[in-house]
Amino acid sequence: MVDLYGQYRKIKPQIDEAIREVLESTAFINGPAVKRFQKHLEDYLQVKHVITCGNGTDALQLALMALELQPGDEVITTSFTFIATAEVIALLKLTPVLVDVLPDTYNIDPEAVKKAITPRTKAIIPVHLFGQTADMQQIMEIVREHDLFVVEDTAQALGADFTNPENGKTQKAGTIGTIGCTSFFPSKNLGAYGDGGAVFTNDDALAERLRMLANHGMKVRYYHDYVGVNSRLDTLQAAILDVKLMHLDEYAAARQKAAAFYNEAFAGCQKIKTPAKAFFTSHVFHQYTMVLQDIDRKALMGFLSERDIASAVYYPVPLHLQKAYRDKRYGEGDFPVTEALSRSVMSLPIHTELTPEIQEVIAGAVLEFMHKNK
Ligand SMILES: *Cc1c(COP(=O)(O)O)cnc(C)c1O
Repeated sequence: MVDLYGQYRKIKPQIDEAIREVLESTAFINGPAVKRFQKHLEDYLQVKHVITCGNGTDALQLALMALELQPGDEVITTSFTFIATAEVIALLKLTPVLVDVLPDTYNIDPEAVKKAITPRTKAIIPVHLFGQTADMQQIMEIVREHDLFVVEDTAQALGADFTNPENGKTQKAGTIGTIGCTSFFPSKNLGAYGDGGAVFTNDDALAERLRMLANHGMKVRYYHDYVGVNSRLDTLQAAILDVKLMHLDEYAAARQKAAAFYNEAFAGCQKIKTPAKAFFTSHVFHQYTMVLQDIDRKALMGFLSERDIASAVYYPVPLHLQKAYRDKRYGEGDFPVTEALSRSVMSLPIHTELTPEIQEVIAGAVLEFMHKNK
C-alpha cells in the first residue's frame, strides 16, 4: 500500500546526515532535534504549541487527560475509525458515545452528534478520516452552544486545510478545536522510521499541562504534580521528521495527483463510487478509499492479489461491533452508514512514489475484474 523505501531513497543524503548527527551527539532523549522539529511543525501548522510524544494513540490519551475529564464523562466520536480513538476513551474510564458518519465523506455526521449530546457530554473527537477534515464549522458551532471540548484526531489528515465557509478563514487540520492529535506512524502522511506522535494547541495552560503529563506529570525533575505517563518522541525520529516535514506539501500533491488518476480511470464505472471531497476542506489522501457497489469485494481483492496488487479494507468492523467494545447500548443496525461502508469500502495503494505506469496497471486490473463480473 506504500513505498517507504522509494521515498527514503529520494532524500537519503539528508536523512542519513540527520541520523548521523544524532548518533554523534548521543542526545537520544529530548535532543535538540526534538525542539527544532516542534518549532518547525508549529510554524507549518500556524499553531502556538506542538508537543511531541510517543505515538498517535498516546497523543489522544494525553489530550483527554489534559482536559481533566472524570470517569463517566461522555465523549462523542464515530464508529467508523481506527480503534485508537475509542481505546483511549475506554482506558480513561470515560464513556464513548458513538455516532454514524456521512455516506460521501465517511466523516462524523454533525446532525448525529447533536442528537447524541446529553448533560454528561464533555468532548467530541472528530476524526479527519482518510485525509480530509470533518465539518469543523458545524462541530465548532455545536461545541460553542454546549460548551464542550474538541479533540481533533488528525492522524490521517496532517497538512489538510479547513476553510470555514462562514468567514473564509483557512486553518490546518488539528488546529481548530481545543487540542489536535496526530501520528507519525511510518505509513502516515508525515511518517517517521518508527513510532511518533504529537498534540497541538493554542492554549498556553493546556500546553503546559500536556508537556507535564507526557513527562511523568513533572515540570521540575522529581516533583510530580499530576499522574502522568512517559511518552516521548525519539531524537532520531524527530531528526528524520524534521527533514521530511519540508516535503509534506509536495507529498500531499503527489497523493492528490495519484487520486485524480484513479478518479478519472474509474469515472465511467457504475460499480465504483470514487471518494468525494467536502467543499470546505482540502484532501491529502492518506487513503484512496472507494465504495464498491454490487461487487464481491473479497473476490476483487483476491484477483488483485494474484497480480501482486495490494488492496485493503479500512475498516472491516465498526467500533460498536468489535468484541472488546460490545456495549448493550449498541447493536447491529444502529449505525447503518458505518455498517454499509464497512461492508463495501476498499482502498487502493496511494503514496508518494506512484507513477502513472503503476497506476495504469492497478486501475486496469480493477476494471478488468469489473468487466469479467458484469
Ligand atoms: C494511526 C491512527 C491513530 C494512532 O496512531 P499510532 O501512532 O499508531 O498510535 C489514531 N487515530 C487514527 C485515525 C489513526 O489513523
